[in-house]
Amino acid sequence: MRGLYIGRFQPYHLGHQAVLKKIAQEVDEIVIVIGSAQESHTPENPFTGGERMEMIYAALTEVGLRERSVVTPLQDIQRNSVWASHLRSMVPRFDVVYSNNPLVIQLITEAGIEIRRSPMYQREQYSGTVIRKLMRENGEWPLLVPDSVADFIREIGGVPRLNAVSRSDRD
Ligand code: ATP
Ligand code: MG
Repeated sequence: MRGLYIGRFQPYHLGHQAVLKKIAQEVDEIVIVIGSAQESHTPENPFTGGERMEMIYAALTEVGLRERSVVTPLQDIQRNSVWASHLRSMVPRFDVVYSNNPLVIQLITEAGIEIRRSPMYQREQYSGTVIRKLMRENGEWPLLVPDSVADFIREIGGVPRLNAVSRSDRD
């Protein structure tokens, strides 16, 4: 049995990690799909598809799930009505999709694919939006991501990048 977990992972955080551990108890193999993979260097999507792939593999290694998982990027298509077939055409086969995102849930359900929601883990802090805000404000963002992900973001200069792409020429 193979489960698919999809997100933008900007960045990958401990909420994602909690979901993943739960999925690992329910299925044998996990396909992790990096959505909006073509996006990078913007305030909402600071990291490239490849950088997010590295973050996720580092985190998977940390929790011993790397051998059971594959990480794959997925570009956006600007047509929600055919997005589920786009997904199917681009990633390894899967039996069930895990998501808490309302649009993903709707599109997957309409395509006749089984969807499972997971509990929300400390959503007030384990949230990409919150973490990107903390990064811009010099806050305690490293506490909200796996250690290996914090190291990787420092290594690639992720915070200076996010600050740079969030500024305008009036700042
Ligand atoms: P953003 O605020 O940028 O949208 P996010 O934290 O929602 O970031 P996504 O990559 O959009 O991260 O999320 C991927 C999937 O993980 C979605 O289904 C989302 O609902 C779910 N998710 C995100 N945070 C948590 C959490 N703390 N607990 C459980 N599920 C979560
Ligand atoms: Mg989200």
